[in-house]
Amino acid sequence: MKSLKKLLILLVVIGLIGAVVFYFRDTTEPQLTLTPNSGPISNKSKLLLSLTDAGSGLKDLQVTMVQKNNRMPLLEQSFPVSTETTDIELDLGKVKLEEGDFQIEVRATDSAIYHFGKGNQASKTFSLTYDSRPPIISILSKAHNFSRGGSGLVVFSVNEEVTQPGIQFGDLFFPAFRQPSGHYACLFAYPYFMAEKDFVPRVVAQDLAGNERQTGIYYRAKYKRFRDRDIKISKSFLDMKTPELEPLAPNAKTPIDIFLYVNREVRKANRAKMAELSKDTSPTPLWKDSFLRQPMAATLAQFADHRTYYYEGKKVDEAYHLGYDLASVAQAEIEAANDGKVVWAEYLGIYGLCVVIDHGLGMQTLYAHMSQLDVHPGDLVSRGQIIGRSGATGMAGGDHLHFGVFVSGIPVQPVEWWDQHWLTDNIDSKLQL
Ligand SMILES: [Zn+2]
Repeated sequence: MKSLKKLLILLVVIGLIGAVVFYFRDTTEPQLTLTPNSGPISNKSKLLLSLTDAGSGLKDLQVTMVQKNNRMPLLEQSFPVSTETTDIELDLGKVKLEEGDFQIEVRATDSAIYHFGKGNQASKTFSLTYDSRPPIISILSKAHNFSRGGSGLVVFSVNEEVTQPGIQFGDLFFPAFRQPSGHYACLFAYPYFMAEKDFVPRVVAQDLAGNERQTGIYYRAKYKRFRDRDIKISKSFLDMKTPELEPLAPNAKTPIDIFLYVNREVRKANRAKMAELSKDTSPTPLWKDSFLRQPMAATLAQFADHRTYYYEGKKVDEAYHLGYDLASVAQAEIEAANDGKVVWAEYLGIYGLCVVIDHGLGMQTLYAHMSQLDVHPGDLVSRGQIIGRSGATGMAGGDHLHFGVFVSGIPVQPVEWWDQHWLTDNIDSKLQL
């Protein structure tokens, strides 16, 4: 009898210990985070609520919006047994918020029996600001005249902080840069390849809450046709260039195939590289006065010449020539067209040995086919400084300088930038605003 009693007591003790262990099994509240958890938001913003309870799992959730004395239930939810973690996107469109500050109250409990069966509760309040109004953009510059293949500048202001302001049309985007005046300056191109009807520049800006505004500008665009040029690819040209171009076209077998691969694929890759380099730019203009045209006698080719290539009497390729070819003596000294920072100084496909100088606002100049480079990436150069010597490297038949101007990676007409009147009227005077 006595031993039975002992056994009973032992069982009760074990049971009690078990109950205590179970009771204290999960004493920590669920973890909850809200992203973003402060600052301005609109009902277009993604608000992500993340909940985790590693102990007993999540049980239920309540989300309430509070603005002034107004409490608005947004969400009430129970979770299936042993839900350890979940992400919930809050839909602000379900409640009517006014412009201004508000709070989000979040309460979550877990399935523990702690707190006499109520479980652990996490409770957090987040303070945010509701902003449903897009930024207001004011265009400050006037007389925007564009010529196809050319450049232009728009200066504007916005009434609140914005991200990614710029000019957009088609699938092109030109970033705007904030100036010391507080205004934004956006340099952009009427691309040489664009039809008149597709050139519809709009200023775009998004505020921190995600509200976007688009604003049109007054402008005049002059359509310009470019020249057509036939280029005959001679056997002697191929004989001369094949050893240099061969490594760029590893799968091409014959000299003409090597040429065609470089003229198409390598050209495309080099253009992509120029677009990438354009991101390495000063937010303020570095140039002073007009850009220097190299003192070279002959112009061999102009901007946007449309070239048709013939080989053995047959048309084999076509391409636009997106710079100016200037020639004088062999290995002529090459000058930086203006003040700026070197962002590239090495071999680059069709351009051969070349230098790219950044002049700010996404505007960069290219000096191609050189035989010698006297500068390095990161060097600050001044207008007229010798940066190397001309040559015939890359896709060049003879010694000359290929001079290119790019605006946010889009090749543009250099002639405008050589012209002090054009520069004053269209760019520099607007930057004074
Ligand atoms: Zn050229």
